[in-house]
Amino acid sequence: MAGQKATGPDDARRAALLRSVPEVDESTPLAAQLAEDARRRIRLQGARFAKPATTRIFTIANQKGGVGKTTTTVNVAAALAHGGLNVLVIDNDPQGNASTALGIDHHAGVASTYDVIIEGTPIADVVQECEAVPGLLVVPATIDLSGAEIELVSKVARENRLRNAVEAYLSWRADEGHERLDYILIDCPPSLGLLTINAFVAAREVMIPIQCEYYALEGLSQLLSNIELIRGHLNPDLHVSTILLTMFDRRTNLAREVADEVREHFPTETLEATIPRSVRISEAPSYGQTVLTYDPGSSGALAYLEAAQQVAGRADANTTTTTPAAAEEETR
Ligand code: ATP
Ligand code: MG
Repeated sequence: MAGQKATGPDDARRAALLRSVPEVDESTPLAAQLAEDARRRIRLQGARFAKPATTRIFTIANQKGGVGKTTTTVNVAAALAHGGLNVLVIDNDPQGNASTALGIDHHAGVASTYDVIIEGTPIADVVQECEAVPGLLVVPATIDLSGAEIELVSKVARENRLRNAVEAYLSWRADEGHERLDYILIDCPPSLGLLTINAFVAAREVMIPIQCEYYALEGLSQLLSNIELIRGHLNPDLHVSTILLTMFDRRTNLAREVADEVREHFPTETLEATIPRSVRISEAPSYGQTVLTYDPGSSGALAYLEAAQQVAGRADANTTTTTPAAAEEETR
């Protein structure tokens, strides 16, 4: 995908600033960290990201609980929006953690993903704007979604309901003259039930956050074989395009070993950027915020900006095949 190259008029100024940051060796780790953060801040703050040629749709999945799926969804989404892109987050987890973290009203009864998947309500009727982050839209999840797994069983085309809703929404936006969405990120529950299957069918790309701890790779082969099954039967375009190492503590051997192992298995998919374990990242949701608005200069915010920049900067390798929706978009 030939994304438009993001060039800013301030590139020369950034380069000059970068040169002015002193080189510090690892013998003073704190100073090295501060210098590295300063460089990243100069590189990233205010940077505009490349627009993809068509809407890129990601499912953020890992059936292991608590590995950073939701944290990754909301912060990568906010970072992409921060980079000037139009982004939609679909909260597809009955826990509604992504809605909470984005400060979106999602008490019982609010129109939500449940209405979209079960009732066939158009996404346009349930979508809310994230006030703190211009360019970021959210389909919230409420507790109603917890019944959806069971209700879906008896529905017609039960695996395709989210995909149909997303395609209809993209067409509606084009017809209504709204700007094209650049990214859709779907946050999934820690299971491989029908809600997650709906997300896999709606998406083209899978982003897997991997926590840099013991048993990080446990269950990954099951996730990958499930993705293969979906590819074979329901969505031939689906592929794992992105792996993000989360809660990375560079001081521990274990984290480095896990990171090395993941990179060995997935050399092209794994992003260079890693997300550090950070108190600011874990505090932000309790204020209904992403770390990008809660503490924009923190290492956690910079790491998510860097990850988002790398996502936006990589052409999706598997773009020679196009989904009907993408093809339709392209011909508009
Ligand atoms: P679930 O499987 O329940 O949906 P999840 O995979 O979505 O979980 P998160 O909710 O994103 O995982 O994260 C689990 C916990 O770890 C949360 O309390 C979150 O705030 C915390 N957390 C996530 N990433 C980081 C990080 N980089 N540093 C510190 N804490 C983090
Ligand atoms: Mg979650």
